[in-house]
Amino acid sequence: MFRMTQFLQEITQPTPVAPRRNPPGPVVIWNLIRRCNLTCKHCYSISADIDFPDELSKEEVFTVMDDLKQFRVPALILSGGEPLMRPDIFEIAERAKKMGFYVGLSSNGTLITEQNIDQIVAAGFDYVGVSLDGIGATHDKFRQMDGAFDLSMKGVELCRRNGIRVGLRFTMTQANCHELVPMLDLLEREDIDKFYFSHLNYAGRGHRNRKTDTVHKQTREAMGLLMERCWSLIERGQPKEFVTGNNDADGPYLLKWVEKNFPEHAAHIQGKLEQWGGNASGVNIANIDNTGVVHPDTMWWHYALGNVRKRPFSEIWKDLSDPVMAGLKQHPRPVTGRCGECQYLSICNGNTRVRAMQTAGNVWAEDPACYLDDVEIGLVAREIPLVRVN
Ligand code: SF4
Repeated sequence: MFRMTQFLQEITQPTPVAPRRNPPGPVVIWNLIRRCNLTCKHCYSISADIDFPDELSKEEVFTVMDDLKQFRVPALILSGGEPLMRPDIFEIAERAKKMGFYVGLSSNGTLITEQNIDQIVAAGFDYVGVSLDGIGATHDKFRQMDGAFDLSMKGVELCRRNGIRVGLRFTMTQANCHELVPMLDLLEREDIDKFYFSHLNYAGRGHRNRKTDTVHKQTREAMGLLMERCWSLIERGQPKEFVTGNNDADGPYLLKWVEKNFPEHAAHIQGKLEQWGGNASGVNIANIDNTGVVHPDTMWWHYALGNVRKRPFSEIWKDLSDPVMAGLKQHPRPVTGRCGECQYLSICNGNTRVRAMQTAGNVWAEDPACYLDDVEIGLVAREIPLVRVN
């Protein structure tokens, strides 16, 4: 997760650069239920509107929460499927709040209604994130449900009216990249607190020309738009929290933007980016799925580290006998290819390892979704134009 606003605010309000330090426990994204009332095209948990077997019971969830607390986990992001379909969601959230966790709810928003908003308020969520794939019909098409957009926006409005901090989550694909600007306009118009931009966990083909690849070009354009809008809001004295996810090359790319627009602040921003340190899957981010299986993060559902029914999370997370976990815990990671040679490895940390695993069959190979070219990452010198001498 990359906190864009925080880094851009360092231009106007710099804070001291400190050594990189991992928090005591990871943030846990917890898919409490796989059932969902929608069938989104890009769903990583491949949910459906049916009950899935073998999900953790409320009592099991409570036992895990006790372990997470003593392991100093600071935050639980309750997710799904659609977490509001879990009948005991409010009991779970209330208990988590009483225990002192920061508690977020990751929802599609369609089930936030006048009937349950009081319960949502009473549960004490610190933040509600609502996912949208675009405006109106685009969103409905992605979600395969007519009227889904209106329902989600009603949910957003109910949260706002009741004082709950709320944000939009947008996963960009080639089919909805044209919706980014309208989404940012919506954010401003409705005065929504936060925008989470998720790069699609696009594996693609291994070796492509980074200058001409469509997805890389779209990604660069989208990042440019996000940084411009984020900065404009800061300049207007109305900053909103912009966060990106699933592509840690966003860190070096932001540095390039600062070098171009505010060169006098580039050294400071580089220091802050190194303090952040890039991808944190398996270290500061953890995932527990609906059946209790622990994964390095939500994009690793094919990779199991253990099950909280058999072994406490705190033990699973510390166990470095798993070679992937042992490598993920290193900083910088033992990456190869262009990531291994990249001048920004200490900022990006080799990006998203699961993509390397899926495309190259080697978890430590270069990340195919890096959208910086070889000149930008310091692999080749900038081309010097030839001067004709007569
Ligand atoms: S080459 Fe690898 S480490 Fe460097 S910015 Fe790209 S993804 Fe990150």
